[in-house]
Order: sequence, then structure tokens, then C-alpha cells
Amino acid sequence: MQINKSKALFEKAQNYIPGGVNSPVRAFRAVGGNPIFIEKADGAHIFDADGNSYFELINSWGPMILGHNHPMIKEAVIKAMENGTSFGAPTAREVEIAELITKMVPSVEKVRMVNSGTEATMSAIRVARGFTGKDKFIKMEGHYHGHGDSFLIAAGSGAMTMGNPDSPGVTKGTAKDTLIAPYNDLEAIEELIKVNKNEIAALILEPVPGNMGLVTPKPGYLEGLRKICDKEGIILIFDEVMTGFRLAKGGAQELFGVTPDMTTLGKIIGGGMPVGAYGGKKEIMEFVSPAGPVYQAGTLSGNPIAMAAGLTMLQYLDTHDEVYTRLNQIGDKLVSGIKTSLEKLGLNYTVNHLGSMYSLFFTDKEIFDFASAKQADTALFGKYFQAMLHRGVYLAPSQFESLFLSTALTDEYISQIVQANEASLKEILS
Ligand code: PLP
Repeated sequence: MQINKSKALFEKAQNYIPGGVNSPVRAFRAVGGNPIFIEKADGAHIFDADGNSYFELINSWGPMILGHNHPMIKEAVIKAMENGTSFGAPTAREVEIAELITKMVPSVEKVRMVNSGTEATMSAIRVARGFTGKDKFIKMEGHYHGHGDSFLIAAGSGAMTMGNPDSPGVTKGTAKDTLIAPYNDLEAIEELIKVNKNEIAALILEPVPGNMGLVTPKPGYLEGLRKICDKEGIILIFDEVMTGFRLAKGGAQELFGVTPDMTTLGKIIGGGMPVGAYGGKKEIMEFVSPAGPVYQAGTLSGNPIAMAAGLTMLQYLDTHDEVYTRLNQIGDKLVSGIKTSLEKLGLNYTVNHLGSMYSLFFTDKEIFDFASAKQADTALFGKYFQAMLHRGVYLAPSQFESLFLSTALTDEYISQIVQANEASLKEILS
């Protein structure tokens, strides 16, 4: 495989862009090698600047649930552009998408559109604090909620520790209000609440985390969180930026039958355009400006082009249940192919899978939280990533990411990916 143009672009990019990329994971630092610069994408494939094509298992980190460059989304965007690209004033489409989101997502009675998942989570926490009059919130170890200051907090030395800034620039003052707990551990939450009695505004989590690789909730875990939050008057926030409109039409909350007080959304909601949203119970959302005192705004929020793409995507998902049936079939077929190969090769690596999301962890240990995820062999993952890339399969360039499948994957494509996976495993272990 020849990637001379990608190499030249990356060299040049490093002169002008920090690390040569506009989002760190794109630099391939976790897997080595030169990042691939993308020229275009279509259906199940992306094409790089050197003309190589790859099967795509990231799908822009989730949004492209129907595959790339879907004609329906493309048409909606082109049509919207004919009327101008931004007004900074309300439009009918914003009302329509808000109504549809409240219909699709069980917890959302009112919703505010923003421009990214980061904005959605930052705003949701501000509203939860404003509503409860409390400062602290609980976040799970290994969960990612964007790059807002109060979310960039490491676990410290254990569940009971106050957060320490994870990144220079995040002040200790900010970090002290972020309490860290391990995922899938209800006792740890109860302990944390005991120590911080009546000081906690919210508990935010990815109900099905994808940012430490895919990890699924233990039976009763989400229900347990709901009960604890009800008892303690804590606002339960599901960050469904990844899982919203993916694991089910109404996200993980619909799939598991647990309704949070607030939900943050992103990715699929914009059909590939920069969109996020946060919503929840009416009485909480009435705290958002101008209805209430909590300020949050955006020049490009509800942008007409982004709303056209998002609305078209959501309307399609809302009226085509077969999308979810097919996504589950695709996930099952691919993961069962991978598991068969692992068995054949005498490997007992862990595969976590739910619907159209999965992760192959290079460890034989069960992965149920951040500490267990960190046991995976990241060096071996790096070799696997490169071996797959050279066989034309573009994976997320880190062990600690979920993969996202799209309906553009045909059975034939899945068989080819399974073959590439088996050949790659053989190569890296020989
Ligand atoms: N929340 C979750 C669960 C995410 O996975 C992400 C991004 O991957 C975010 C929030 C932040 O979204 P964005 O990158 O659009 O700011």
C-alpha cells in the first residue's frame, strides 16, 4: 500500500496544525504509523489521498449510521443551501426536529440544539447545577463527555478521591467538583454520595460506554443508578452522544428501559454535520435561558444546513425500524465471524458487543470497567490496527474506542472484513 500523499500532507500539516490534526486521536499516536488523509467517502468505504480504499468501521465516530454520502442526506443539504447557510434566527426546521427528538427519546420533553457533543454535556451539567443549586457531580472513570474542563478529570487513586486535572489548563478548583467512580459498581456510587451528602447535583455517564472500548452495563446497574438518584435528589444524565439513535431509535434508555432526567445527544443527530443537543424533563429544561436563569447560547446553534441533515436522518430512522434490525444482524454476523476466527486460532481475546457497536480487546480478561479495559495489550492492538489497515479495513486508531457499523455493510463486505481480521491476527501472532 502506497501512502506517499498522506505522508506529505501529514508532514506539511505539522507545520501549521498542532500535531498535524484537528482532533488528537486522528494522529495515530496510539497505533503508530502515518495517519491516512481522507479524500472522500461513499457507502461502506473511505478513499484516501493516494487513491486507496478502505472498509470503514468508524463511520466518522458514529454519525454515518446509514453509510457515507447517503443520497438522501446529500440532497437535503444541497436543497437547504439554496436558501442560505446561516441566519442566527429561528426556523421552522428547528421546531420540527425538536418535536421529533421529544417523540423519539423517552427522557426528552424539551430540547436545546447546540453544535457538538462537548457543548451538550457542558451545558447539561450547568443546567443540573443551576436547577439543584449544588456544585458537584459524579462522572465515571474512563467515560468521555467531550473536552469541557470539568470532564477532563482522571480517577486519581480510587473512587473516593477528588478529581485531579487530567490536562494542564484545567484548574484544581474546577476538578474538585468532579467526583470519579468506577463504572458498573453501585456500591462505589453509594459510598461517594455518603461522603458528599447533599452536595451532588448530577450523575453523568455513558449508559453503554464506548470510550474505553465498548463496555456494557451489568444487569440491574442502570436501574440501580436510577433508584439511587431518585432517593438522593440527584439528576441522572445519560450521555447518549454515541448511543443515541444507534442502539435503538430512542437510544440506550429505550433499549434498557431506564429513563434518565436529562440526555445529551450528538453525532447521528446531525447526519454528519456539527450538531449536538441536550434535553430532559420540562421542569429542568425550563431553567435554560431565556425561559430560565441558566445561560447558554450559540451563534450557529440550529444552523439551517445542519438541521436539514439531522432532521432528514432522524425522520428516516423514526420511520424505518428495519434499520435497527439490519444493524443488529450486521453486528451479530461480524462479531460471530471474529469469534469463530479467534476460536480457530486458539485465542480467547474478549469481544464486547451490543447492536452495531463492538470492541475486540487484546486480553482474555472480562472487560467491565476502566481498570479491566486497561489490561488490554495496546502494543498488540497497534500491530493489529496496521495489519487491518494494510488489508483495507480502517478501524478506530486506539484500543480504547468502540467501532460503529453502518447499514452500508453488505454480507459480502462483512465476509471480507472477517477474512481480513483472521489474516491480520495470524500475521501479528506469527
Ligand atoms: N460524549 C460522548 C459519549 C462522546 O463519545 C463524545 C465524542 O466522541 C462527546 C461527548 C463529545 O462530542 P464532540 O466530539 O461532538 O464534542
